[in-house]
Amino acid sequence: MSIDFVSMTQEMRISWLETLGQPKFRLKQIEEWVFTHGVVNYADMANLPKSLREDLESSGVPVTFSRVVAEHHDATTTKLAILLGDGQAIEAVVMQYHHGISLCVSSQVGCKMACSFCATGTSGFRRNLTRHEMVSQLLLANNLLRAKNAKITHIVMMGMGEPLDNYDETIGFIRLTCSPLFGISPRRITVSTCGLVPQMERLAHEDLPINLSVSLHAPNDELRSTLMPTGKTYALNKILATMHYYAESTGRRVTIEYTLIKGVNDREKDADELVSKIKGSKFHVNLIPLNPFLGSALERPSPARTRKFQQILTAAGLTATIRRELGSEIGAACGQLGGNIRQ
Ligand code: SF4
Repeated sequence: MSIDFVSMTQEMRISWLETLGQPKFRLKQIEEWVFTHGVVNYADMANLPKSLREDLESSGVPVTFSRVVAEHHDATTTKLAILLGDGQAIEAVVMQYHHGISLCVSSQVGCKMACSFCATGTSGFRRNLTRHEMVSQLLLANNLLRAKNAKITHIVMMGMGEPLDNYDETIGFIRLTCSPLFGISPRRITVSTCGLVPQMERLAHEDLPINLSVSLHAPNDELRSTLMPTGKTYALNKILATMHYYAESTGRRVTIEYTLIKGVNDREKDADELVSKIKGSKFHVNLIPLNPFLGSALERPSPARTRKFQQILTAAGLTATIRRELGSEIGAACGQLGGNIRQ
C-alpha cells in the first residue's frame, strides 16, 4: 500500500488495523502518539505491545513518508531539510520566540512567483505539497521538540512556495491544525502571500480568523514589478484595497512585509511614497533587511538606513517594526529557503 498513516482517512486507518487483526481502540492510541506527541516511529509508541509495534513497522504504512535528512541549528532557530516520499526536498524552520515556538511551513516544492530577492523563487517550481505533507512538517517539528517537552504553538505559512497558489491544500492543512487533533488556534496562524488578489478575497470568506501577511516590497507598481513578476498582474492599489477588505471582514491583523534592499527600495523617497499609500491604515509594517543568498547580487542595507526607513513610517503614525533576524547564519531566514539544501 503506497500511502502513509497521516494521509489516510479515518475509515482507511480502521480497515488497515483490521487487516492487522487490531481492535478500533488501537487507532486512538496511535493517533494520540502521532498527532499529540509528534511520534513518527511506531517503535517509539511505548504503550503498544512490542509485537504490534513490529507489525506496524513492517505493514508498509509508515507514519509519514517525509523524513528529516539534516538539521541546522543556531541559538534560536532550527532548519529542517526534509525529504518527501517522491524524493523531492523542502525545508521547514522552527523558531523560538518569547511568546511560543513557531513553525515556518513550506507549501510547494519551489515557487512559480520568481521574486528576485528569494532563493526559492530563483530555483523554479516543481510541485504543490499536499495538506498531509504540510502536516508532516508539523509532526517532524513536534518530534524534534519532544526532547524538550515542547510543541509548536504558532504556524507561519512563509516557507518555500506561495501558499495561496496551492489554495485548497493550504486551507485543508490549516483546518487540520485548528482541529482537535492539533488544537492550534487560528489566531496563531499566519498566511503570507505575494498579493494574489482573487485568493485573498476568497480567504476572507473562509470563516477562518487567521492573520494575513502581504509582501509589498515596493511603494509603486513600476518598482514592484521589477522585484516581483506578480506585480504585473495585480496592481498595488487593488492589493491594498483587498487587504482593507480582509481586515474588515475577518477582524484579523494584516501585515505588510517589506524586504529592504540596498539602493533598490530602501531610499527615503520609497518610505515617503509608502506612507502616502497606507497612511491612516491599521496595517502593521514588518521591515526585513534583505537576507542575501548564494548567487544573488542584491545587498542588505545598513542598520542606520533600515532605522531611517522605519522612522519615516512611524513619524507618519504607522506601526513599523524591524524583523528580528532569526536563522540567517544557517540559511533559514526569510527568502533563503530552498536555494541550497544541505544534508
Ligand atoms: S518570496 Fe514567496 S512568493 Fe516570492 S518567490 Fe519566494 S517563496 Fe515564492
